[in-house]
Formats: sequence, structure tokens, C-alpha cells
Amino acid sequence: MRAEAVRRALADALPSGSVVVDPDVIEGYRRDRAATAAAGMPVAVVRAGSTGDVQAALRVAAAHRVPVVTRGAGTGLSGGASAIDGGIVLTTERMRAVTIDPHAMTATVQPGLLNAELKAAARGHGLWYPPDPSSFEICSIGGNLATNAGGLCCVKYGVTTDYVLGLEVVLADGRALRLGGSTVKDVAGLDLKRLFVGSEGTLGVITEATLRLRPAPPPATTIVGTFADVVAAGVATSATIAACRPAALELMDGAAVAAVERVHPMGLDPGVGALLLAQVDGAPHEADLVADAFRRAGATYVAVGDDPEEGEMLMAARRMAIPCVERQGTVMIEDVGVPVPLLPDLVAAVTAIAERRATSIPVIGHAGDGNLHPLVCFDPTDEDAVARAHLAFDEVMAAALALGGTVTGEHGVGTLKARHLRDQLGPDVLDVSRAIKAALDPFDLLNPAKWL
Ligand SMILES: Cc1cc2nc3c(=O)[nH]c(=O)nc-3n(C[C@H](O)[C@H](O)[C@H](O)COP(=O)(O)OP(=O)(O)OC[C@H]3O[C@@H](n4cnc5c(N)ncnc54)[C@H](O)[C@@H]3O)c2cc1C
Repeated sequence: MRAEAVRRALADALPSGSVVVDPDVIEGYRRDRAATAAAGMPVAVVRAGSTGDVQAALRVAAAHRVPVVTRGAGTGLSGGASAIDGGIVLTTERMRAVTIDPHAMTATVQPGLLNAELKAAARGHGLWYPPDPSSFEICSIGGNLATNAGGLCCVKYGVTTDYVLGLEVVLADGRALRLGGSTVKDVAGLDLKRLFVGSEGTLGVITEATLRLRPAPPPATTIVGTFADVVAAGVATSATIAACRPAALELMDGAAVAAVERVHPMGLDPGVGALLLAQVDGAPHEADLVADAFRRAGATYVAVGDDPEEGEMLMAARRMAIPCVERQGTVMIEDVGVPVPLLPDLVAAVTAIAERRATSIPVIGHAGDGNLHPLVCFDPTDEDAVARAHLAFDEVMAAALALGGTVTGEHGVGTLKARHLRDQLGPDVLDVSRAIKAALDPFDLLNPAKWL
């Protein structure tokens, strides 16, 4: 009865065609890319086309006290967009407008726009939007904002929040707030927009953003180094970051290289212990500094190349690593981060956990940021393997915390890491976070049961 009342109220409040109740269609909106995250059955999916639609949907949700999970493109890896039983999934996929102001070097975008679509629109004006998650071709700007997404070039150019000038956000009661604006400097009042960046749909729905753009960067030089093992690659990473600031510094261990090579043969050596891929686009001597750092850390092979196509092919290989490893079984994707000098300790800990739990854990990551994605693989039909994989998943996060690190550097907490967030933040910080949530969403309707 309640479900029917909610559906009727949504249909009355929203333009025709915006409310989906067909269970077969709803099925496609229930989960994100986190293979092991649980997902409920919502009563409806709202395909919002405007800020007004979002306000209308949230007012219905508030009146009926039903939870709302906002969804961008559903590429999240933490269960953040997992639907809730009896709730509403609010998808922004139809909100894709983009306006570029080449003089102010800004873009004003709706949240459903894909990251790659924003990059293409900026490129049309000779400009660049740097944040580049490996999923940039398939993820939305709203999802990037809500998770404060990182990516490959963030080691030099920063993460999503570094590009946010202004946001429009709809609160749980349907009010729309404008936070910040288009000015480069603005210190009027509390910086509330940053509160919403990374809040994973728990505080409000982001309906518009004004983002900074940059001039396109100069062509990059690519440096490839191979290493006997992943700890040596970790030492080389730390030495590189101490010497210069590359535009990208990515790690793949031997198992990840072999997984990519099996699916997309690219001439990578599947027998390497680990591979580092760096790109530099600054002073000419930066490539030498990186190559020297690799050699001093014991690289078995170092190559430096100026061919942009070859460089892009190598970076594409790194971006393909997650889907290629997923061909080997079910994967729980970690996203731990530590201070860069402690990267060798973290990779050593992951290697030890994989051995102890007899579980395959290929490692990739944005090494230059100290942010790794150990990929915990298991056969879902083998109960013992499932249990060992879950223990390994927990132990990797505990190892990162023991090194003063974080359980998530960019993918967000979602449902998969909620328990571990408590270990990282402690009771006082969690209490303050809950007080902020209660002030903005007193009935706990926006993405409840996630990290708060
Ligand atoms: C192969 C692969 C590689 C990846 N590589 C990277 C990487 O390098 N770096 C990285 O950071 N991530 C990476 N990701 C993870 C994912 O793509 C990012 O987290 C991305 O930002 C999610 O965007 P989305 O549109 O798919 O969001 P969704 O998965 O739909 O949602 C993610 C979270 O944001 C919330 N949300 C979405 N839109 C809004 C909105 N408008 N307002 C409020 N809340 C909202 C959701 O409720 C959810 O909590 C990768 C994923 C894949 C599959």
C-alpha cells in the first residue's frame, strides 16, 4: 500500500515518463560495480531531468519518509549507489547540460554529464578538465563530486575538489542551495560546498557544479620501469616523489600485468615482478630524475619515450587492469592510502596477507599518491575461499590504518567499508559527522545505512 502511495505521489509530482516502476527496468538501477555489495528493491526509479524534478522527488520522499539513493552512472566500487528496500533510486543520467566559459576558464555542468563528455567539451575550447578516474569514459561528474574522485593525473594536478568553485545542492526537504559561485577566490561564510564534495549522497543531491578548467598540458614524456618485486617498485615510487612531481605515477604488480596481457596483448612482459608507469610534462630534466630514481631503487629495465601514442597505450593498459582482473573471479576492490614513503611497507603487508590467506591479491594503484587498489580475488562458489578473501579484505584496511593511512583514497566508503571507517575516524569524529547529517537530513532519508 505504502509503495503504491509513493509511486502515485511521484507520478503526480513529476513529468510523465520520469518515474519507472517496471521491475525489469528497476533491476538495472539496483547496484553499482561493487560485486559483493548487497542491494535492496526500490519502489521506483526517478529519472530526473532538472533541479525541479530532484526537488519534487525529495519532497515526496520527505512526505512519505522513504529513503533516496542518488545514482550517477553506477560505476562506483563501494556499494555507495546500492538501492534500499522500499526506497527511491534517483538517477541523474538525463541531466547532462554543459556550458563552457572560455574567458573565465570554467564549466557549468549538470551532474549526469560523463567525465569524458566534460573533457571533450573543454577540449573544444583548447581547455582541460584534469580529474581523470580510470573510469572517466563511463562515470558521471555528479558521482565524481560525490566521491571526490581521483585518478591518474591527480598526483600533480589534484583531485575533484580542487576544481570545484560552486555547487547547487538539493537538501532532503527539497530546498535548493547555491554554494560558492564562479569566482576563483571566495571566503564568504563557511566553505559548505566542500562538505558536499565526497559526501556520497548522504547530505544532499548535487544538481549543478561550476568547475575550473586549465589550459591543456604540454605533451608528456613516458618513463617505464620494471622491478623484481612490488616492494622495489614501492621504494622507487617514494624516491621519485622525493625528486620531482610527475604528472602520473602508476603501479601494476606482475599479476596485474599478466591479467591485462592475457586479455589485451600489448607486449608487456607478463613475467615482471612489478611495473611503474610515469609521465612528466614539466621541465625537460624531469624524465631523467624519474629514470634515475627508478634505477637507484634497482629497476631491472628503464625506458623513456616521447611518443604520445605509445604513452597513451601504456596508460590505457593500466586503466584496463580492473576489468581484466575481474575476468579471474569475483573481486573486492580495495582503495587504501598511506603516506608515500610508507608505500613499500603497505605493499609488503599486502603480499604477506595474500600468502597468509592463500588468496590472490593483484595490486595496482596511483602509487604517486600512496593510493593502492589491492584486488582481492576469489571463487564465489568456494565457501572457504570466500571466507579467506573477506579476512584478507579486512586485514588490508587494518594494515593501511596501522601505517597512519586511510581505508579509501578515492572510491568512497559506501557500504563495503563502513565498519572500517569507524576504526579510522574514531567515536568523536563520527559523532560530529552524525550531528551534521542530522542537521541537514533529520529523518535520515539520503543514502541511510551507508557510512553514517
Ligand atoms: C574500471 C573502473 C576504474 C575506476 N577507476 C577510478 C579511479 O581511478 N579513481 C576514482 O576515483 N574512481 C574510480 N572508479 C570508481 C568510480 O568510477 C568513481 O567512484 C566515480 O566517481 C563514480 O561515478 P558514478 O557516476 O558512476 O557514481 P555512482 O556509482 O552512481 O555513485 C557513486 C556515489 O555518489 C553518489 N552520487 C552520485 N551522483 C550524485 C549526485 N548528483 N549527488 C549526490 N550524490 C551522488 C551515489 O549515491 C554514490 O554514493 C573506477 C571504477 C571502475 C569501474
